[in-house]
Amino acid sequence: MQNAKFKMKTNKNLAEKILELKKKRNAIILAHNYQIGEVQDVADYLGDSLGLSRQAAKTDAEVIVFCGVHFMAETAAILCPDKIVLMPDISAGCPMADMIDKERLKALKRKHPKATVVSYVNTPAEVKAESDICCTSANAVKLIKSLKSQEIIFTPDKYLAHYITTKTDKRIIPWDGFCPTHIRILPEDIKKQKKKYPKALVLVHPECTPEVIRLSDRALSTEGMCKYAKESNTSQIIVGTEIGLLHRLRKENPGKKFYPASELAICPSMKLTTLEKVLWSLEDMKEQVIVPEEIRIKAKKAIDRMLEIS
Ligand code: SF4
Repeated sequence: MQNAKFKMKTNKNLAEKILELKKKRNAIILAHNYQIGEVQDVADYLGDSLGLSRQAAKTDAEVIVFCGVHFMAETAAILCPDKIVLMPDISAGCPMADMIDKERLKALKRKHPKATVVSYVNTPAEVKAESDICCTSANAVKLIKSLKSQEIIFTPDKYLAHYITTKTDKRIIPWDGFCPTHIRILPEDIKKQKKKYPKALVLVHPECTPEVIRLSDRALSTEGMCKYAKESNTSQIIVGTEIGLLHRLRKENPGKKFYPASELAICPSMKLTTLEKVLWSLEDMKEQVIVPEEIRIKAKKAIDRMLEIS
């Protein structure tokens, strides 16, 4: 109890210092829905990759402190070359984004010269630069349906690619990547939670395996889950995504109950950012994320196309 009180007081002090420094630096804090609760609570904007990209594109702030993983901060740096984009922990990478590289994508493009390359935002800037258009889990289906091409190379998530094939008649050539966190949610976890909470609805992320998606009531992006939880009459929801989202869901819907599909769905990279690191990044103005201009311009085209369509 005393420890909890001490932690709350420390967090309050840190949050106050962050707020003060944020004003001084003319900074904005963007945080992904999977960040730890304390970090979510100091964010100016909390959201999924699409929402965070939009916020980065329209902010007037001079400094963006990006609490998420590397490809997200890179996306902000691509969209805002005149701003300073900082990551409180630069080592926070996305294992799925690391499953693809520019050279291997180029080789696949040579094999399928007529295919349009759609890359999930969870890719390095160099891969975006080799892509025709980007997408997020929130807009992937809509965006692919809107493309003229019938043949699509989809990178890097094979499970999101599979989900798209169930919603469109396009020929999808998937990359062999996956999210190590979402595959930890197993069909038996969903069955167990459904048995325990028979009245609850099951929402899962499309990065989950097809077996898990089949057992769910809906496959939605994290932002889609937040919207659904707010607007629907459902009072109990089993949440099939990284457990960080539960903090936001519970805060925004105090009268409703949320249960994790699996307690093991934790992304270690998303948990690297702490309040202390947010403060230090504002104090020292570190670590800055910089994308070389030649790559930035090409990658921006793919992101801009996504933002126009979505
Ligand atoms: S949850 Fe999965 S996709 Fe998201 S950052 Fe972690 S590893 Fe990457």
